[in-house]
Amino acid sequence: MVLAQLLGNWFESLDYNYHIASHCSRHVSPRSTCTACIDSCPVDAIKLENGKPVIDIENCTECGDCVASCPVQAVEGFLPKWKIQNERLFMDENRIPTVKELLIYYKSGISTLVSEKEAISLEWKKTIEEANQMLDSLGEPPFHIIFDQAALSGESKLSRRELFLLWDTELKKMGTDMTPAKWRFNHESLNLSQKYPDYQFTKISLDTTTCTVCGACEKLCPKECLIIDKDHFSISAQQCTNCSLCQDICPEGAISLKQMISPATTIEQQVYYNECASCEETFETLNQENNLCMFCKMKQRT
Ligand code: SF4
Ligand code: SF4
Ligand code: SF4
Repeated sequence: MVLAQLLGNWFESLDYNYHIASHCSRHVSPRSTCTACIDSCPVDAIKLENGKPVIDIENCTECGDCVASCPVQAVEGFLPKWKIQNERLFMDENRIPTVKELLIYYKSGISTLVSEKEAISLEWKKTIEEANQMLDSLGEPPFHIIFDQAALSGESKLSRRELFLLWDTELKKMGTDMTPAKWRFNHESLNLSQKYPDYQFTKISLDTTTCTVCGACEKLCPKECLIIDKDHFSISAQQCTNCSLCQDICPEGAISLKQMISPATTIEQQVYYNECASCEETFETLNQENNLCMFCKMKQRT
């Protein structure tokens, strides 16, 4: 059973090319300004081609940083395995996780980080501090850090060939040293909103004086955070991933986003039906005082 599981995981990870899926914000709209994956790549292996991100497989080291940073989980791939034993994550100096990764591990039961050095690197410190600030806002206790020099020294690294040559009993023994599959997250597992359903991580502000209720944001939001019906424009940020697509595509610049943690709420703005003072057509607006429809306003601007 253990042998089958380990080999299954191993085969799954062979020759897997990281890939950007078609729900990437830049595929959805040419107005998207998202560069999260490009900015996160430590070896500059992601470039824009015709406005869309493309991963250069030759240069990609499969570090998983782009997988963790994409706000819409569009980079398909796996995060690298961490050494995890007894629900404690061993800090690797060669890769610093994102705050989002740490919070997802935390919510999966890992609240202790183990360092083999007494002096923790500045990058790790910064990430843990940020994660602890977020945990505080989420009403959760902080990460617990312990020092254990012996913990990492005995870790064995196996080549693919060595793995195939091991007997079942040896694999079982090794199984206790390897990260179990449940800790090996892929892009779909990296949705913070699902892990913290009572909170929202983004504040969405709408300028009701400039919004023309055109519906473009509603159409493109991948999480259905913005819903316009006959009477209301509703904003529910709980599922919002701060992908910034609504902000990028709004022709009036009426949406602004701020990353902050607060209890999940829905804000409803009344939709009014006013008569345009210029063309006399009825139009939708969020501003009761507005007396010019979108088309007449555009005419006035030109
Ligand atoms: S981070 Fe995600 S949404 Fe943004 S450009 Fe990269 S793949 Fe697209
Ligand atoms: S916020 Fe912008 S994109 Fe959304 S309905 Fe209003 S004007 Fe249109
Ligand atoms: S509300 Fe805007 S930022 Fe949030 S998920 Fe929808 S499109 Fe992205």
